[in-house]
Amino acid sequence: MQLAHRVSKVTPSMTLAIDAKAKALKASGMDICSFSAGEPDFDTPEHIKAAAKQALDRGKTKYGPAAGMPELKQAIADKLASEDRLEYTADQIIVTNGGKHSLYNLMMALLDPGDEVIIPVPYWVSYPEMVKLADGEPVFVITDAANGYKITPEQLEAAITPRTKLFILNSPSNPTGMVYTPEEIRAIAEVLSHHEQVAIAADEIYKKILYDGAQHLSIGAVSAEMRSRTIISSGFAKAYAMTGWRIGYLAGPLDLIKAATKIQGHSTSNVCTFAQYGALAALTESQDCVESMRQAFAQRREVMFQRLNAIPGISCLKPDGAFYLFPNIKELGLSSLQFAEMLLEEAQVAVIPGIPFGMDTNIRLSYATDLNTIERGCDRLYTFVKNRINNQRPTVR
Ligand code: GLU
Repeated sequence: MQLAHRVSKVTPSMTLAIDAKAKALKASGMDICSFSAGEPDFDTPEHIKAAAKQALDRGKTKYGPAAGMPELKQAIADKLASEDRLEYTADQIIVTNGGKHSLYNLMMALLDPGDEVIIPVPYWVSYPEMVKLADGEPVFVITDAANGYKITPEQLEAAITPRTKLFILNSPSNPTGMVYTPEEIRAIAEVLSHHEQVAIAADEIYKKILYDGAQHLSIGAVSAEMRSRTIISSGFAKAYAMTGWRIGYLAGPLDLIKAATKIQGHSTSNVCTFAQYGALAALTESQDCVESMRQAFAQRREVMFQRLNAIPGISCLKPDGAFYLFPNIKELGLSSLQFAEMLLEEAQVAVIPGIPFGMDTNIRLSYATDLNTIERGCDRLYTFVKNRINNQRPTVR
């Protein structure tokens, strides 16, 4: 069959592929330590599940408005106002099938052929692929570990051209876990204030998962002008352990949200109706679950960070958000893909190679898993690397 050209431009999602492989190996009885997908190991909190179950029992099983349930959109608007100083009306919000789908809608609504989209490297796997699916052109800016893998104002300024339509800002970051400080956000906003043709996609899905007093400042809250050009993308998966529910949202300028709603109205229609009641409970009821999961992630981060840095040939920055570590493995002399494949094969540890994030010198590990798996996985990683280093040594004659 002659497939559409657009499909040949994109690669499959490696995060999903490796996660599926790790889960299948586990299901077949193998003892796999998986640090692959960014998926909290916690079950969705009971009160959220109860709200969805009640909605089912009350017959909330019909179509709803394509852009989402009005009560949920209002609750999202209220939270953005109280937590982030971002004022939106409910009609400036669209509820989508996960954070990923919100970004896809955004790209489809905004990009024309040839529009450039600035993406700092390393990036989350799906950004460039979505840009290409929407006929845009990804423009990569390679960041430096010395800057915490964050784009500098100078790098951003240098990358902007008259064709730049969008800049993707992801903080806290997947895959690095790094968080832009409020000062850094303001410096980025200052650059963008001189280029009014550039919109900002602010992917803030990890904003509730912060450590060591790190602060999240949304770029949309810097000034009225920034807010008018920023589209917030977020979702419920990470902070509320709701990955499989598929509920995300966009908040932004009315014309963009209307355009995204038009696209959604012809593609997916509304997000699962009773699931939206679960999301409403997540936002409007106690936030204690978010904090207790965050505390567990904080403890796991500490353990995995110490363990990784104790492995010869591996060096890792300490991130202050999300639930990923992104260590450098360059010294070990393997590509990230070779490393990840051999590690899974020889040591039954699943990690994501850096290459689909645009950085072949690193690997990504998610610590959204239990401490026992983290300890066992790091033991195996240590042995794997030690064996490799020993085998690499030239033979003494
Ligand atoms: N966002 C998560 C990750 O990066 C889930 C997988 C995906 O959607 O790509 O692991």
